[in-house]
Amino acid sequence: MHRTHTCGEVDESLVGERITVAGWVVAMRELGGLTFVVLRDRYGNLQVVFEKDKPDIAHGYVVKVEGTVRMRPEDQYREDWRSGKVEVLVDRYEILNPSVPLPFQPEDDVKASEEARLRFRPLDLRRPRMQENFRVRHEINLFIRNYLSERDFLELETPILTKSTPEGARDFIVPARLQPGKFYALPQSPQLYKQVLMVAGFDRYFQIARCFRDEDLRADRQPEFTQLDLEMSFVSDPEDVLTLIEGLIAEIFRRWAGADVEPPFPRYTYHEVMERYGSDKPDLRYSVAYEDWTERLAGKGNRIIDSNVERGAKVKALVLPVSLSRGQIDRLLKGFQFLWFKVKDGKPSGNLARFVKDTDLTPYEGKTVFVFVGKGTPFYEALGEFRATVTSLFLKPEREWSFLWVKDFPLLQWNYDEGRIEPAHHIFTSPYEEHIPLITEIENALKEGREGEEIDELAQRVLGKQYDLVINGVEIGSGSVRVHNADLQVRLLKLIGLTEEEIEERFGFLINSLRMGAPPHGGIALGLDRIVAMCRGEESIREVILFPKTTTGVALFEGAPSDVSPEQLEELGLEIRRGG
Ligand code: ASP
Repeated sequence: MHRTHTCGEVDESLVGERITVAGWVVAMRELGGLTFVVLRDRYGNLQVVFEKDKPDIAHGYVVKVEGTVRMRPEDQYREDWRSGKVEVLVDRYEILNPSVPLPFQPEDDVKASEEARLRFRPLDLRRPRMQENFRVRHEINLFIRNYLSERDFLELETPILTKSTPEGARDFIVPARLQPGKFYALPQSPQLYKQVLMVAGFDRYFQIARCFRDEDLRADRQPEFTQLDLEMSFVSDPEDVLTLIEGLIAEIFRRWAGADVEPPFPRYTYHEVMERYGSDKPDLRYSVAYEDWTERLAGKGNRIIDSNVERGAKVKALVLPVSLSRGQIDRLLKGFQFLWFKVKDGKPSGNLARFVKDTDLTPYEGKTVFVFVGKGTPFYEALGEFRATVTSLFLKPEREWSFLWVKDFPLLQWNYDEGRIEPAHHIFTSPYEEHIPLITEIENALKEGREGEEIDELAQRVLGKQYDLVINGVEIGSGSVRVHNADLQVRLLKLIGLTEEEIEERFGFLINSLRMGAPPHGGIALGLDRIVAMCRGEESIREVILFPKTTTGVALFEGAPSDVSPEQLEELGLEIRRGG
């Protein structure tokens, strides 16, 4: 090795010893004929001192030095470095590799744009914070592997070149040279394989699995990302999965985020969270919740309320423990439609003021009350959006962490944008047995050509054995107990619009496996990138993915996607049509 010690392990115990260290030059300064250089490797920073001539090195060079360890003057200790009390007096040095001038310094307060950071990613990854992100990522992976192995899970690798696995996104496809005109799909998740592995008798499976989804990369998404994916046989109730996972998650967040969290996490039904927070992933670091004020406000003479309530709408109120100014309320009104009042010195003001006069207003003193009227999924979604907006604008989180489970989702929902019925999670989720008869009702309603709210209302009543893990308002994982009865699976696939032929073509391998003695089974997949990002206090998962893509799906460092040669296209029997 080009070193006897790493830069991060040189301490007082080595004073007087000759050592060899190697690393990157991250700082240089001259003072009174001496040259002070900071060398860095993965383990830390170390000051090395050149007494004679100024060394012929610069920022970014990879340098090996030999010399004697000595104490630094006490007033120059770097308490933030593990090797910060000592330095090495150099008597020999060697340049292991020079460097061109760096486009930016690999420091935590990096001045470069994100584009430059992605373009020169190895340099960016050299920053101590990034090094720590990936060290933690490794530790979490290792912990997961041990935790699950100790509980009899086997780590099994499912194919990457595969058949479409629907998770609601577009597939990435790969042309198959040996089968001209045919394509593999990259897995959106290992969902179907892991179910089949239960039929194969593996009993407990997990995988730190790469998933590929060709979506528009709004917000903080990546076309390839990593899930902790698992599946268990003989699961009879969602709780079997929940207790296993919350133990794992609580330990990860205790160890790597310092979170004060104990399982069990609170459990809410989908219905509860939608009514209270207007979201299936509420951020419960804030306690404000919607209250049902239908009885309180209906029939008081407010036209909007009364006409809507007559049509089955509900009145929902959110009490914000802050007295907002008229200007703030007007600005909110630009994005949302609500009625409101606030109370000052016992007197209400606002467009609802005269309708709440006969109410006891003491609980609302100094607060602003927002009132919404409506029904159906889009209404609840708007409630959720409004709550997220006002909490982030006007409130401080009451706690650092909020972990919760949401259970009992509707199995199916109406997709208002596309005008069709679709699974709320995925179509392999089992309904609760007692709700199976309702599926017949939906089948009939669809045959009669009914749609929209009517179907949505029916669909909301069929509950699936689905569960989501939500941390600080972010859906971190989703899973379900699965359909293990082949006939029921076929019925559900038909319900979402597939024909017998399509079912056979796309899911024949699953259905046939289910017919060969599939045990009851269930599982979950957790977003590992997001878990690591949260533990590290990073806003974006790009900070914990080595080579992430931009929002237009471009890998700036290696330059993908890229053209392929005419010969490759020829071999694949493909032709590119360019332009309009
Ligand atoms: N495959 C599902 C997903 O990626 C998770 C699961 O149901 O286990 O969301």
